[in-house]
Amino acid sequence: MRYAYVNGHYCRHGDAAVHVEDRGFQFADAVYEVWGVRYGGLLDAEGHFQRLARSLQELRIEPPCTRPALMRIITELLRRNRVRHGLVYLQISRGQARRDHAFPKKPVPPTIVLTCKRLDFAAADTRAEHGIAVITVPDQRWGRCDIKTVNLLPNVLAKQAAQDAGATEAWLVDDNGYVTEGSSTNAWIVTKAGKLVTRQADNAILHGITRARIFECAQSLGLEVEERAFTPQEAATAREAFLTSATSFVMPVVAIDDKTIANGKPGSLATSLRQTYLSQVYVSGPASHAK
Ligand code: PMP
Repeated sequence: MRYAYVNGHYCRHGDAAVHVEDRGFQFADAVYEVWGVRYGGLLDAEGHFQRLARSLQELRIEPPCTRPALMRIITELLRRNRVRHGLVYLQISRGQARRDHAFPKKPVPPTIVLTCKRLDFAAADTRAEHGIAVITVPDQRWGRCDIKTVNLLPNVLAKQAAQDAGATEAWLVDDNGYVTEGSSTNAWIVTKAGKLVTRQADNAILHGITRARIFECAQSLGLEVEERAFTPQEAATAREAFLTSATSFVMPVVAIDDKTIANGKPGSLATSLRQTYLSQVYVSGPASHAK
């Protein structure tokens, strides 16, 4: 049986529910976070907690509980669901109130929901050995993509467009013709000179926790990182390309819009970065020692 956590209670996943007047449901007035889980521990717990705090602050939603309390909930949820490899999903909305666009006049308690699920990271390793294809689509999102809100309709449509085209991810292209990021991942290329390039962390992208970690991995491999925008054309002729996220780690990209990147095989730097990331990422939680 699977469990979810909703507003102070662990309940059967099939029965877990929020009210129809919840502002997350009505307005996407909610933030979320996702932690990767390996060997029962959370990847980069601290980075994700910090981003969650910032997202809440930017939207003026009160944190519903302290960080240690949240950590205890996550630990218990993973235990109840017997998840050793997978992800934890958290959503916090502004709460439940009679439908009105403006914030509730009398503050209401935020809604907090957590779920978790298993992921097959062995299958992901196999995918990483072959690399994935991406397509490009126009970036139709709002001006604050740095806040991790559940307002994901453009991302949903982009991901579906990728799947419809037989690709795995969609890279979003801004009005100036530059890639911002993927629909649920950050986008990277490697130049002919072996330099890593990823878009600067402005309001047009989510500041990926994995992205930040890759800067450290690059440093330990003696690689230089340049934060700047790049075009799909530059990506198509790059030495390598890859994407990053909490659950895909580092995933080599071998084709963009049907154009093969380099020899169509995962690049050596992307492959090294994946290994380095998995060995360096900080795992915290109940079973961090049990590799
Ligand atoms: N960009 C977007 C739009 C995302 O949804 C995600 C995944 N949360 C990322 C980038 C990658 O962020 P992270 O490395 O923190 O998972």
